[in-house]
Amino acid sequence: MPPPPAPTRPPSAQGPFGHALAGLLDVLVPARCAGCGAERTQLCPACRHALAATRPGPTPLPWAHAAAPYADPVRQLLLAHKERGALRLAGPLGEALGRAVRSALGPRAAAAPLLLVPMPSARSAVRARGHDPTLRLAGAAARSLRRCGLDARAEPLLRHARPVADQAGLSAAERHRNLHGALTVLPRARRDLLGRQPVLVDDLVTTGASLAEAARALADAGLPARAGAAVAATAHRPG
Ligand SMILES: [Zn+2]
Repeated sequence: MPPPPAPTRPPSAQGPFGHALAGLLDVLVPARCAGCGAERTQLCPACRHALAATRPGPTPLPWAHAAAPYADPVRQLLLAHKERGALRLAGPLGEALGRAVRSALGPRAAAAPLLLVPMPSARSAVRARGHDPTLRLAGAAARSLRRCGLDARAEPLLRHARPVADQAGLSAAERHRNLHGALTVLPRARRDLLGRQPVLVDDLVTTGASLAEAARALADAGLPARAGAAVAATAHRPG
């Protein structure tokens, strides 16, 4: 018997019409929880709770907090949103990201308006997926922060200055070398950030090398980030 097909969207669902088609498929295909596979729901109460109930904590970068450890079901929810176009998960994932932002900033969250700066995705990845998952999560996080009474919006102000090698399998030092100088700040960043606190946001923090490079790019442009935040962080040994 052949193996069951992988739960991905058909190739025709990729590209600029991916969103519309994904929305249609949401209606036509009986939903399963993206976190655990429970039937007749896109996000079951248990997985919603797993995402909403964790206390944010620091990542390998002390100035960046993550809402949850990178473990199922949060891992599955992030993958479904990023790779399988489960766009409705952006709301609850963005809410978790918003909690990580507030945790990382502490009382400073209310000190001045916030500008969430998502980690940039490679253009080829955005084309292949039909959307920019990190930008979408940043927008959802800004909305959730506004619901908490904070002034927050999201702007993609970073881009790649050069291509980088795949980070998988590289040591922390190699990742640092691979990424140094990889990101640059858009010219409009200074205007967009006027009077606002820049906060770097990402879906997942592993070693922290990418966030550190983004912080370097902002600092070199004279716009130092106040904090960083992610939905999830992989386990690490502190120190
Ligand atoms: Zn579930």
